[in-house]
Amino acid sequence: ECSVSSKSIVQDACASYATLEKLNGNVKPNLDHLVRTSDFFSHYRLNLFNKACPFWDDGNGVCGNIACAVETLDNEEDIPPVWRAHELGKLEGPLAKHPGKTEQRAHPDRPLHGKLGDEVGESCVVEYDDECDDRDYCVVEDESATSKGDYVSLLRNPERFTGYGGEGAKQVWDAIYRENCFQKSSFPHSANLGSPLWPAGPAVQDFKQVLQSAGRQAQLQAERLRQPNVPFVASTGYEAEDECLEKRVFYRVVSGMHASISAHLCWDFLNQTTGEWQPNLSCYLSRLHGFSDRISNLYFNYALVTRAVAKLGPFMRGPQYTFCTGDRSEDEATRAKVLEVTNMAAAVPNIFDESLMFVNGEGPSLKEDFRARFRNISRLMDCVGCDKCRLWGKIQTNGYGTALKVLFEIDNNSGEVPVLKRTELVALFNTYARLSESLRAIGEFRKMVKGRAAVE
Ligand code: FAD
Repeated sequence: ECSVSSKSIVQDACASYATLEKLNGNVKPNLDHLVRTSDFFSHYRLNLFNKACPFWDDGNGVCGNIACAVETLDNEEDIPPVWRAHELGKLEGPLAKHPGKTEQRAHPDRPLHGKLGDEVGESCVVEYDDECDDRDYCVVEDESATSKGDYVSLLRNPERFTGYGGEGAKQVWDAIYRENCFQKSSFPHSANLGSPLWPAGPAVQDFKQVLQSAGRQAQLQAERLRQPNVPFVASTGYEAEDECLEKRVFYRVVSGMHASISAHLCWDFLNQTTGEWQPNLSCYLSRLHGFSDRISNLYFNYALVTRAVAKLGPFMRGPQYTFCTGDRSEDEATRAKVLEVTNMAAAVPNIFDESLMFVNGEGPSLKEDFRARFRNISRLMDCVGCDKCRLWGKIQTNGYGTALKVLFEIDNNSGEVPVLKRTELVALFNTYARLSESLRAIGEFRKMVKGRAAVE
């Protein structure tokens, strides 16, 4: 079977499902170990409750189920010591001046924070600022002491079935897919919703109107793209329909993320009769099985994120990046695990060739639009009415956004690289771990389907 990607994106014609599954068999134990055992990768600070949906009144879509709730770390003792308020408080002094963008420019070969750790009296949690860099694909989650963020233990808040659904969820997914409708007359938000603060100003107003009155054409396009068996091979008639590679990639990322979320909630489903968490085969059958395009898009995302993780490897090798535990040996252990994962990811050649994007035809002019649309998807996460879904929605959009940033903004030739924040790195590896879990879950579901067929 060979349907992960378009010929032109995956160099060796296709990375087969089997190749990716084999990789996943190797990488998953290391990845799981990394995100489950290190403080660095298992804690995420984000603004989960204080941002209103910028696009519509989300009062109707709120999920009251207990499974939707997120347990935040309100107790200082539960927060890794280096990130406690006391440590953050120290940052108010003169030493607190974390290396700004100038520092980064002085070390253009370092996409990660260059000089953090005890040598410079810095805390690892401070980010440069909460402004979106021009090259960000996501609205930045600010970890600084002054922002109203909450620490969340990702281990204590696993992504799973919550019961969130109905009109609220549908509205969010519809709006997400509408972002895919690149149109000749650029959407108003694509140029000017770049601010991370997205005040309810004119641009948001415009976007609301776009959402309300999205044209028939946009709707048709979204529906057409959702049809099973829609070919995504670069050389199909799609070009004739003005679907360039970049637009197809955008759609695949979104649909693959949706498929991955469906896989998680079907795998970790609450049996309301027994009260047990267990896989739900009919959930899988109704959302994923037989939807070859959705499965293909999920594998596509796996390939894309694998490539991004592999590309980051060389930047994480040296001691220039500390993993913020405040403990040198723990930092080293975390680095070693990270490198195991990045090396494995790099061992599969030609998995995804990002250099083919944004180069031909209207490609170069699409990049900014692509980025802006992805940022809007990350803003839409504040419209998700279930705290747990919003938490993981934010992590995963940030993870994909980071992968896109690594793929398209780190130019190996020029040596100019964007800064990566701690939240981005944590989101990237957790998203990879989630995709890895999706592949495993789908493999198990397939076995169940086969087993059932054998009995019948
Ligand atoms: P939905 O999944 O809501 O899909 C809506 C429509 O989109 C479908 O009818 C179909 O036409 C189309 N579609 C479905 N999948 C794809 C795909 N892969 N590609 C293209 N088109 C597709 N629920 C939980 O229980 N736990 C969670 O952690 C969770 N996280 C969420 C995160 C976000 C950001 C959002 C928006 C929702 C989340 N939900 C979560 C809700 C969940 O995704 C579904 O919306 C809900 O279960 C209702 O499902 P549904 O069957 O109505 O179809």
